[in-house]
Amino acid sequence: MIPIAQPLIDKAEKDKVLEVLDSGMLASGEYVSEFEKKVAEFIGTRYGIATSSGTSALQVALKAAGIKKGDKVLTTPFTFIASSNSILYCEAEPVFVDVKKDTYNIDPEQIRKKLEQNPDIKALLIVHLYGLACDMDKIMDLVKKYNLVLIEDCAQAHGAEFEGQKAGSFGDVGIFSFYPSKNMTTGEGGIIVTSTPSIKDKARMFIDHGSNQKYNHEILGYNFRMTNIAAAIGIKQLEKLNKFNQIRRKNAAYFTEELKGIDQIEPPAYEENKKHVFNLYTMKVKNRDRMVASFEKNGIGYGIYYPEPIYRQTLYVSRGYNNLNLEVTETLCREVISIPVHPGLDSKDKKKIVEVIKNCSFS
Ligand SMILES: *Cc1c(COP(=O)(O)O)cnc(C)c1O
Repeated sequence: MIPIAQPLIDKAEKDKVLEVLDSGMLASGEYVSEFEKKVAEFIGTRYGIATSSGTSALQVALKAAGIKKGDKVLTTPFTFIASSNSILYCEAEPVFVDVKKDTYNIDPEQIRKKLEQNPDIKALLIVHLYGLACDMDKIMDLVKKYNLVLIEDCAQAHGAEFEGQKAGSFGDVGIFSFYPSKNMTTGEGGIIVTSTPSIKDKARMFIDHGSNQKYNHEILGYNFRMTNIAAAIGIKQLEKLNKFNQIRRKNAAYFTEELKGIDQIEPPAYEENKKHVFNLYTMKVKNRDRMVASFEKNGIGYGIYYPEPIYRQTLYVSRGYNNLNLEVTETLCREVISIPVHPGLDSKDKKKIVEVIKNCSFS
């Protein structure tokens, strides 16, 4: 079985975790602050605030950026549920707009149209899906013109770039996830990145019971702190991230080269001004059911990210989103399939994946 995702942990992580276990500093500790500094430096923001997951990072990021009850937040319906749930956690209102059919990311043209009709929209939550940055030039123009709060969900985009600038450094605040299927992992874990001191201060309070000083609680907060054990893993993973991403990009280039010319398959978009870090290699295919059957038969892991637009999930239908029907999103939900692209693949795995895809496309 070739898994769709595979965390790569070796002696470096194990040794560091053992060191933490021996030290007795299992919860917060010096590795958490070291990890925060190193991630912020890598992304190009002033601050990093490590959290218990990407989801808790998102929830806190929106609150720290001032999203409140009743605020309208523009976002994409073609992503993992956590992205837009973070808006619901604030009792704010997600406003979904369609994505682009080549990049699968939120469409700046649709954002512009929505803003023209709804000038009271307060914020924009973008997702750099599968490891590909959104169209940040057009998005930043709109953010400035409409004075929006910009939040970046970079849970799949560690090290992704737009014109040399890293995803996570464009907005008021950004978040990353370190779940095992992401480009780097800490087990469960996440981080908030920002260069705005007031957002940093609020985020720190929210993740630690609303306190800025021990036993002084100013606001209603949570326990969303990262452990020293997770941070120890994260420090070692961050050292390997560039290498991991390089291998992901090489694997992706191999698939795209081998699969070109097959009618039923549209490989992921390649754009010169973006550095795609391929958390997922996602194609559009006309014969998805057949491909799924042959992946299952041949022991090839795959994923359908995502089979349903967020507005069709029961949670959202029950909140009145049942009338939405965004054309590109609907088509993508029917056609996308992701294949393994992680750095754990060897050349035999890659050959086998290509062979199985070709066989089910041509027979
Ligand atoms: C993984 C993911 C999250 C949530 O991260 P967790 O660490 O699993 O909580 C949020 N948004 C997107 C787009 C993701 O892929």
